[in-house]
Amino acid sequence: MSFAEEAKSDVPTLPGTHSGIPPFLLEKARRAKAGIFEGRTKPQKERQRLPVVPQGIERDDFLKALAELKELLGDGNVEINDKPLRDGWYMEHPNTHDMMTILDEEEFVASAVVYPGSTEEVQQVVLWANKHRVPIFPISMGRNLGYGGAAPRVRGSVTVDLGRRMNKILDINAEDYTCLVEPGVSFYALYEALKERGLEEHMWIDTPDLGGGSVIGNTVDRGVGYTPYGDHWACHSGLEVVLPTGEVIRTGMGALPNNNTWQAFPYGFGPYSDGIFSQSNFGIVTKMGMTLMPNPGGYESFMYTFPNDDDLAQLIDIIRPLRISNILENVAQVRHVTQYIAASGHPRSKFYTGPGPVPQDVIRAAAAETPVGDHAWAYYGMAYGPAHIRAHKLALIDREFRRIPGARRIDPATLPADEYFWSRDRVARGVPDIHELRWVNWAPNGAHIAFSPVSPIRGADARRLFALGRRLHDKYGIDFFPAFCVGLREMHLIVEIVFDRDDAANKAAALACLRDLVDEAAREGYGEYRTHLVLMDQVAGTYSWNDGALMKFNERLKDALDPNGILAPGRCGIWPRRYRGRGWEMTRESGERSEGNGVEPA
Ligand code: ADP
Repeated sequence: MSFAEEAKSDVPTLPGTHSGIPPFLLEKARRAKAGIFEGRTKPQKERQRLPVVPQGIERDDFLKALAELKELLGDGNVEINDKPLRDGWYMEHPNTHDMMTILDEEEFVASAVVYPGSTEEVQQVVLWANKHRVPIFPISMGRNLGYGGAAPRVRGSVTVDLGRRMNKILDINAEDYTCLVEPGVSFYALYEALKERGLEEHMWIDTPDLGGGSVIGNTVDRGVGYTPYGDHWACHSGLEVVLPTGEVIRTGMGALPNNNTWQAFPYGFGPYSDGIFSQSNFGIVTKMGMTLMPNPGGYESFMYTFPNDDDLAQLIDIIRPLRISNILENVAQVRHVTQYIAASGHPRSKFYTGPGPVPQDVIRAAAAETPVGDHAWAYYGMAYGPAHIRAHKLALIDREFRRIPGARRIDPATLPADEYFWSRDRVARGVPDIHELRWVNWAPNGAHIAFSPVSPIRGADARRLFALGRRLHDKYGIDFFPAFCVGLREMHLIVEIVFDRDDAANKAAALACLRDLVDEAAREGYGEYRTHLVLMDQVAGTYSWNDGALMKFNERLKDALDPNGILAPGRCGIWPRRYRGRGWEMTRESGERSEGNGVEPA
């Protein structure tokens, strides 16, 4: 299909496809798709490095092993990855590679994809992987875009796509405000299920900026949303996990036969084991409990703008006490105007065609033409509860924010329906959206990758991180998109670097910039909360206190739980014994190369 044809082809919908768009977002998704394919020039290449076979097994043995897997799971549930790598787009994403790759596209690729249909079949896959010493890499939806998408860390891993056949909502409990889901349940699907049951006014989900990811994948990777329940990991309760040796466990109250509180009390008895299954490679999550939020009885979005880059420090110091005391109730965002302009969905070339970052006066002039008007920073928040309670909180916020000269409260009534504000409004009340995709069109063949350090909610820290980001983006000629997401006692700075995935120089600059950002931030005491496959070793390496004691502990767990090193080797920088000391870690020096030199023989 040509890009023009692809732009016009329809978008898969729920419930027909588990990863589809809900019908109420279909028109928007169609427009988004057209916009994305209009800007696409990257040609579909013939495969360059076939066949893909994981290191440590001969090609013939691998093909025999795959035939055996087909016997176990059915012919149609095992696919070899030997077709051209189609990048697709958000709603039709590949499960074979990273569609937003910053390396050569053949680096982080799967050798095959397998679709188990039950926990028992996941166990069979795991036992098969141990028998043949084949690395496997679980995904739920595979839309972890900006962090590697569906791609495995080790080239040639067999991707275990859990979502395609395991996508049931097993329970929604309208009295306890909880649910129990399988890996293939997206935020879109969970929201639709509440609507179908007439519960969407009764209880809310907590959705990330985009709702297409799975509840499980996003939670185990410690993603966030924007209602007061924003911290997904903190809000989950109860896991079912297939261990790398094939046993199944249930955590928390799930370990008590006939229990009635698996989704109500996360801890159960004894060590709290859930933690080792998030941002790790210690198990495959096949079920997860999640809490849902009672409708707070009202909500009201608000937006303020601040005129100067230098207002950031004062604003953050104003936010801290308001956020810690829950006057500011949700993970709110302080966004820089550059990203606001990009969120209009127009390519950068509309504003500027010169080299280097778009000059700030160009950005500011563009902002002046928008309904929001000229600004440096925008704060998006929501007040919850009945009107009189909201009024009290909003008055406090207004008084504090207006201490900054030039602060403006934007009247939502002045904003048109497709203004970014309304997307933030929907997301903050648990209605999933697709608007956030728009800034990816900033570059042709737009892809993105994030730098996301954790910081105290302090003006001096915000100023430092902003200066660090600005300096390094200028050094590499990259536009700087900072957004501060304020949690309860810390904030994440989320910097999305948008690059052209078909432009080698652009990709190299983005990666070099990221490597500098990670190292320099770590030297000043800031570490990432989550990262892309390509940066995992580097980021894990910054958590090095006491001679890397934490990684030594993780490696000990890995070797005990996964003696054959089959499960997602290298994920989050944790390498199993078979791989260690063979150059698998990716650093600045490894350049494009993601593979090491072999594995310990079986
Ligand atoms: P999303 O569902 O948001 O699209 P992914 O499915 O891509 O996210 O998951 C994000 C990452 O979390 C994956 O790369 C994988 O390493 C890990 N992961 C996802 N689902 C599971 C699971 N069920 N069990 C263990 N790890 C998982």
